[in-house]
Amino acid sequence: MTHKQQQQRQLTRYKQQSTLGLVYQIIDQLGPVSRIEIADHAHLAPASITKLTRQLLPLGIIEEQEPQASTGGRRAINLATSPSTHQIVAVRIDRTQLHLGLCDLSGQTLASRLVDLHASNAAELLSQISDEVSTLLAIHIRKEHHLIAIAITCPGLLNTETGVISYSPHIPLEQPLAIADEISAVFNVPCYLGNSTRSLALAEHYFGNARDCRDVVVVRIDHGIGAGIIMDGEVLMGQGLNRGEIGHIQVNPLGERCHCGNFGCLETVAADDAVVKRVQQLNGSGYPTHLTVNESTTGELTMSKICQAALNGDQLAQQVLREAAEFIGKALATTVNLLNPQKIIIGGDLIQAWRIIEPVLNATLQQQTLATFYDRLQVRASSIEQDSLLAPFALIKRALNKGPLLHSMIEK
Ligand SMILES: [Zn+2]
Repeated sequence: MTHKQQQQRQLTRYKQQSTLGLVYQIIDQLGPVSRIEIADHAHLAPASITKLTRQLLPLGIIEEQEPQASTGGRRAINLATSPSTHQIVAVRIDRTQLHLGLCDLSGQTLASRLVDLHASNAAELLSQISDEVSTLLAIHIRKEHHLIAIAITCPGLLNTETGVISYSPHIPLEQPLAIADEISAVFNVPCYLGNSTRSLALAEHYFGNARDCRDVVVVRIDHGIGAGIIMDGEVLMGQGLNRGEIGHIQVNPLGERCHCGNFGCLETVAADDAVVKRVQQLNGSGYPTHLTVNESTTGELTMSKICQAALNGDQLAQQVLREAAEFIGKALATTVNLLNPQKIIIGGDLIQAWRIIEPVLNATLQQQTLATFYDRLQVRASSIEQDSLLAPFALIKRALNKGPLLHSMIEK
């Protein structure tokens, strides 16, 4: 085959993939829906819809439904998705834990496991994930159901197209790790990989507070601070490029040195560790608190505990959270002036004290952004962060809606 023929074939495949995904997406969102209605929404000929649904029906991923009531004349058969016939495994790699779940195609978690992450290199990471996925499947998957894909989210620098992690903040990698291919080979299903923050943005886009907006910035605050950006209804996935590094916007020119080499980055004053350190520091210089602050055992004091103390009226905890919120507001203001989003969504343990930080965030944003931008801006806490498997699940949703997962199921 010549290069041109190859290109032609690839283009045809892309086109098929996207129309197939589009038809699935319409059935998923509007179903039960007739073929005529699908054709209308997809701007495709009814004959094309018949052909495409003929490809989807044998997969069991959509089903025909009898029309409800007779309205006279010929009754159209409706199509709907059948979310419970297939299952997927969602894997979330955090700093210290591995969270896994078996989900159906509506995103409902049927069974889950939360285990400590003990891998200290690439080989150990692969074997721990394989072992845990195998265990989950051995216990919970039902014989009549089919596992169709696995999705993994993790922090760091990675390529969503190739499924390769090139940098992980917690696990030293000697060379880039083709984690998606490795896991896919073990379980013989496609494996999708996404960065934690950008996958959360994708989940907000499909299931959360970003559903009704086209321009949204999703910020996640934990041991680092990053942002996922949705522009014109598309989540910028990065594909191996770091984007949305809001944690490295300088908010305090005379601040502490950041691990990136600069001084006073947002992470140095508002990430979980920085907030914990600030409470310890102020308590050390005599400010009273109800929190148990012991500098030698840093693990004991957490962002969650600080939030709870603040909500219970602890003055020091409140003061430290307000300080952090002001810095976050400052970095967000820069982002708003650049992107003019309709919404900012914030996730992380910090949002447990939402009623304390929200007024500070809004006041800072109002002061430091263009008035017309602030007028249409809404600042919200993430409503899905707690349901922590929705971020990896969103990668599967994307692979269905865009087509590649449907295509690989057909090829099988
Ligand atoms: Zn930095």
